[in-house]
Parts: sequence; C-alpha cells; structure tokens
Amino acid sequence: KNATVSVDRMIERRKAVMGSRLYVFYDPPLHMVSGDGVWLTSVEGRRYLDCYNNVPHVGHCHPHVVNALTQQIKTLNTNTRYLGEQVLEYSERLGTTLPGKLKVCAFVNSGSEANDIAWRMAKAYTGNTGGLTMDFAYHGITDAVDAFSPSGSLTGAIAPHMRTLMAPDGYRGIHKYGMPDLGRLYAKDADRAIASLAEAGMKPAAFMVDSAFMTNGVLEPQKDYLASVFANVRAAGGLCIGDEVQSGFGRMGDTMWGHMHHDVVPDIVTIGKPAGNGHPLGVVITTPEIMECFLKETAFFSTFGGNNVSCAAGLAVLDIIERENLIQNASVTGRYLKNGIKQLMEKHDLIGDVRGTGLALGVELVTDRKKLTPAKNETSRVLNLMRDEGVLIGSEGVLGNILKIRPPVVFQRDHADIAITALDRALSKI
Ligand code: PMP
Repeated sequence: KNATVSVDRMIERRKAVMGSRLYVFYDPPLHMVSGDGVWLTSVEGRRYLDCYNNVPHVGHCHPHVVNALTQQIKTLNTNTRYLGEQVLEYSERLGTTLPGKLKVCAFVNSGSEANDIAWRMAKAYTGNTGGLTMDFAYHGITDAVDAFSPSGSLTGAIAPHMRTLMAPDGYRGIHKYGMPDLGRLYAKDADRAIASLAEAGMKPAAFMVDSAFMTNGVLEPQKDYLASVFANVRAAGGLCIGDEVQSGFGRMGDTMWGHMHHDVVPDIVTIGKPAGNGHPLGVVITTPEIMECFLKETAFFSTFGGNNVSCAAGLAVLDIIERENLIQNASVTGRYLKNGIKQLMEKHDLIGDVRGTGLALGVELVTDRKKLTPAKNETSRVLNLMRDEGVLIGSEGVLGNILKIRPPVVFQRDHADIAITALDRALSKI
C-alpha cells in the first residue's frame, strides 16, 4: 500500500513540474534506482531484464565507461575552444569505422541536434530546401527535425517543404515479402515524392533515414531499396543522411553501422543515444567538402559538444565494443533470440511476423493472420504481462501492434532464454 501511495505521489509531483502528459512506460510506472549490465533494479528491490533500452549499449554502468568518465571528470572537462586530445582521438577512431571521406566531425549533445546540424549542412551544400523522410520516422525534437518525424506528431501534419516515403514493409505494405524486386518496387515511391517536391518548386536538400526503420516497426533491409532511393535522391540534387542513432555501433550485428546492411554510403552520418552509453553525446560525421560548405555560413560551436568527458565516454564505448566483440554478439545472440521467438509462432497465433536484424527485433501481433488485423490491445497487455514476469520490452509501429526488443548489446543467450520464456508465458495468458 505504501508503494502505491508513493507512486501516486510521485506522479502528482511529476505532473506539477513536468506537465500533464506523463509519457511513462507502464501503468503504474516503474521507479528504477540502479542498473548493472542488462539488469535494472526497481525501488522495491525487484530485478528486471532490460530488453528495451539501446542507450546503455555496452550495459548499464559498465565499469570501463564509469572509470573513463570518473578519471576524466576528475582531471578536466572543458570545451573545444581549447585543443584537446580526447576529441581528436574520438574523431579519428570514428573515422576509421566509416568508409570513404566520412571523416570530419561536428560535436553536439543529442541525436536531435546531430540531425538538425546534418539538415543544415545538407541545405548549405545543395542550396535546396526540400526534405524527404519515411512515413512514420522519428529523428528528434528540434523544429527542423520534428518536420522529419511523422511518428512524433500528434496532429499528423506534414510541413510544406517535406515529403514522406512509403515504408518498405513486406508484411503489411502494398508489396509483400517474396515478391521479386521488392526493394526496387518500394523505392519507386521516392520518385513520386521527389516529383511532388518539384511540382511545388522545390528540390530535395536531404533524405534522412534510420537503417533499422525502428519506428516504422523494425523493418529488415530489403535488397536494393536504400541503394535505389539514395540514387534517386542524389540524381535530384539531394544528400543522404544516415541516422545511426538507433542502428549504429553494431546494433544490427555483422557491421558497425546500419547503413552497411543496405550496401550504401551516406553523405552524412549522425550518431547519438548509445555513443556515450548514457552520457549525452551526439556527432555528425561527413566529408570535408560538406563540412567546409557548412562552415562558410555559420560559426559552428556547441558548448558541451566534444568536451573531454563526453569524448572519454565515447572512446570507452568503442573500446568495449571491440574488446567484448559486441558486433559479433549482436549477430549471434540476435539470431538466437529471433529464432526462439519464431518458434513461438507455432504455439501462439497472435504472432504474425518476427523480423529484425541483430539485436533490433520486431514482433508484429495480429488477431487474424490472413487479414493481418492489428492486435493493439493485446500488444499492450503483453508488454504489461512481461513486465510482471520481470522482462522489459517496448512497442512500436503506426498501429501500435509491434513488440520492440532492443536490449543492450551485451545481451547473452541466457538472457534471450529468459525473454523467450516470459513472452511465451505472457502470450499464453492472452
Ligand atoms: N534519431 C533516431 C533514429 C532516434 O531514435 C532518436 C531518439 N529516439 C533521435 C534521432 C533523437 O535523439 P535524441 O532523443 O537524443 O535527441
């Protein structure tokens, strides 16, 4: 009873100081007090398996990150108005992970800011004003990138300079899995969007894309899809921005960056969330030509961007990804988890589709496998039942009927087993 009173009291206090819309997971919400690896502990002392948070990429409170942060903050934390070793080393190391001329960095503090700067760079370089984004994308909160984020809009309004692209969803979209040239068929929609901009007297400055199509429901790369869209955007004079805030740092397994799963090279790459394992750190990485164009029109400087402590955290994350072989782990454990969930399809008709790459998985729930009737209420019930089982996952997609499983990439086979069992038990109760 005391716990309920305390939750109610915290909600009241929160509404008073943070606004009436809570945007919390679960009802009643959870109050977490500590984290360790893939585990979170609530105020009641209960442990939860974190299968959702991609920010603590190398695990909550990883000792190497904590130590790097502590040592650096004890020594110096200042900005890039001074020369500093950490920011150079971090830029150089990021550069070695990316192909071609993607070597030049602008440092900010979040994914939103990184995308905002990427958009400004694209406008400066191309002289164009139009923007292209996926129809249910999310790229952040600034005014500029909010326009690229239909999934964040409560009104559904699209800004006049924006056009949206139909998501390459082979399960629910108009072209289905198994159709030949699925990727190219979907890519044709980019021509329509570009033509629509042209009718309004605009050319695209940039197309922004998350390689994991996370908010669109965690869509798997379709052969030739992004390559065709990139070609069409470039032919129309636009740049391609690879938003790696979700898909980056080996999340999708096999490769460091999500765009590599699509065999494309963006003109600008943005990173955030997992970069500092929870410490705010965002970076825009581009070519010298694009950066120089941008710097002709702005005296770019971000007070916290590229500070010694953030870069120390970023370097520690890169160390751990290498040392603990986490890209490989995302592939192996991701495949194991995906197969385990796929096997549940035999038992649970509610599961319509299991998809995703590495440790970014989507499980689409339907009440009718033929009609694909979205099981929205059941999705939220599964989330809550899994919470009762001590396993935290999320939901996603235009229709809110897709379970999102996106754990820290230190997730192991035994954690996958716990998650699969919890999902099985939750589905059995529906
Ligand atoms: N891009 C993508 C793909 C994201 O998922 C997010 C955050 N969910 C952002 C950008 C914005 O990042 P931030 O919240 O750090 O501003």
